[in-house]
Amino acid sequence: MSLLETVSVQCPCCWESIELVVDCSVPGQEYTEDCSVCCQPLVLSVEVDAAGEPSVGVRPEQE
Ligand SMILES: [Zn+2]
Repeated sequence: MSLLETVSVQCPCCWESIELVVDCSVPGQEYTEDCSVCCQPLVLSVEVDAAGEPSVGVRPEQE
């Protein structure tokens, strides 16, 4: 069984849709990952609900 889920989010810098692989075994994560399109650093906030479905918030590292 894999706890990795692929989630699509919209980059707040270039507005492209990007796919992220989220590790659902660690709820409430926050980490930085570069956008695969524009290479801007993005802060990702991952929450996993009781059903194991991840929801990902994304914001630019620099406001
Ligand atoms: Zn981007």
